[in-house]
Amino acid sequence: MLCNDCNINTKIIHEYYMVQHYLWPKNVEFLCIMCLEQRIGRLLNVHDFLLVYGNIVWKRSGLLKQRMVGFNDMFDEGCKDGSIQPQAVAGPHI
Ligand SMILES: [Zn+2]
Repeated sequence: MLCNDCNINTKIIHEYYMVQHYLWPKNVEFLCIMCLEQRIGRLLNVHDFLLVYGNIVWKRSGLLKQRMVGFNDMFDEGCKDGSIQPQAVAGPHI
């Protein structure tokens, strides 16, 4: 779970998350938030994160919390209207 670019352990710093597939660079397994933002050339926002159960339960670093403001509400809404299957747990970065 080492960041591909800076080698930090993303699990230990709580920057383990799933973003939209088109944002994820090819041939990369893990990236911390800062290194992913460096690669895409902008800051992440709440819409960049996949509405998957993992993104709810995985701990968030301070930076990840900032980027994911409003995520839990979006997730709850999706569960209510049936667009999300809350029990479906996806693996990292599919
Ligand atoms: Zn990094």
